[in-house]
Amino acid sequence: MLNIDMRKIYNFYALEPAPAPDALPTGGDIYYECLDCTGIVSSVPHIKAACTCGNLSGNGGQVSIKDATRVRVVRGKLK
Ligand SMILES: [Zn+2]
Repeated sequence: MLNIDMRKIYNFYALEPAPAPDALPTGGDIYYECLDCTGIVSSVPHIKAACTCGNLSGNGGQVSIKDATRVRVVRGKLK
């Protein structure tokens, strides 16, 4: 799998207040950061994407999350 280092392209800022784990927002500039492996996956992934530990995996515009309490919602801004 091709894994792009998103941090080279975007700056990420945590959403305040942090959304509830059972009601995570989605959007074109919303990303999920895995707190276990620090991987970043888009909240609306149009290409196959996953964090290295497997907590987050996405494809076809949707993300499956194994443990939503180990996810930080961040907003991505192009550098
Ligand atoms: Zn992970």
